[in-house]
Amino acid sequence: MPLRSSLIPVSLAFLCVIAVCAALFSANVVSVPGGALRPDYVLTLSLPQSGDLEISAVDGGPDDGRPLVVIDPGHGGHDPGAVGGDVLEKEVVLSLAQALRDRLQQSGAVRVALTRDDDRFLVVEERAEIARRLGGDLFVSIHADSAVGAGEASGASIYTLSSDATNRAAARFAARENRADEINGVVIDGDNQTVETILVELSQRRAAEEASNFAGLIERGGRGTLVFREPARLSANLAVLKAPDMPSVLFEAGFVSNPDEAKRLTSAEGRDAFSLVMARAIEEYFRADPARNSGAESGTSGGPSIGSVLGGE
Ligand SMILES: [Zn+2]
Repeated sequence: MPLRSSLIPVSLAFLCVIAVCAALFSANVVSVPGGALRPDYVLTLSLPQSGDLEISAVDGGPDDGRPLVVIDPGHGGHDPGAVGGDVLEKEVVLSLAQALRDRLQQSGAVRVALTRDDDRFLVVEERAEIARRLGGDLFVSIHADSAVGAGEASGASIYTLSSDATNRAAARFAARENRADEINGVVIDGDNQTVETILVELSQRRAAEEASNFAGLIERGGRGTLVFREPARLSANLAVLKAPDMPSVLFEAGFVSNPDEAKRLTSAEGRDAFSLVMARAIEEYFRADPARNSGAESGTSGGPSIGSVLGGE
């Protein structure tokens, strides 16, 4: 039958496409938006090296019941983040994170770890996952921003997670940050589970409340020392903040596109001001409620894994 014989190659081609898709997904390398693959279309991606979830060392001594703060300098490796002249966000935020780590280590009230301590790329989901595997009690992601019309926008912002962005600027910021995991429009999947399937709502609500308390401490303690945008506290759908069981805040330290701010952020004074305010807020956060140190009791390693749904666009 001519009809049947012509169907065989067609169905073979269809099976090949299914097999290619299955291989891509099971390798957990890329996820392709529905409908993006066609039978006559071969998708070849050279993916950047991510950190293989290499867990960084915890600085500041053994697990003796002190809470663990995980500091996450944004971007790294092939991903410079925001750029202002020769000032790169990935370098600015690494220096800020290291200054904060050093200060926290000196005071010794908390233990501290960095998600990256050098110029390496981490997929967004890996960042909170590293913190969770370490049993982190608080997650602080550090970023900087840039704006068109350089020189105008300035000031720091404190972000917490919400599906509804505070305003359009917050939504645009989240869209840009979440795009760190995209190459040519294809999302690199750091985890094969989705937020929807594993989300423990109660746990996340509590983590969000705690994050909001912590954001308040940063703002109150930072007034007079740091320059904030108004409003200083914003919420947006930021993928890096989606760990359901760990209070998570993203501190956007300022605009590298603003020459004055770039100069301040890269100066010793700027790092001092930032690390002083942030270290005080962290220590106050745990002092105000010692029960926040959940890691000492049970850790978080048995909890649900973070997901891979990215917001933005
Ligand atoms: Zn960033």
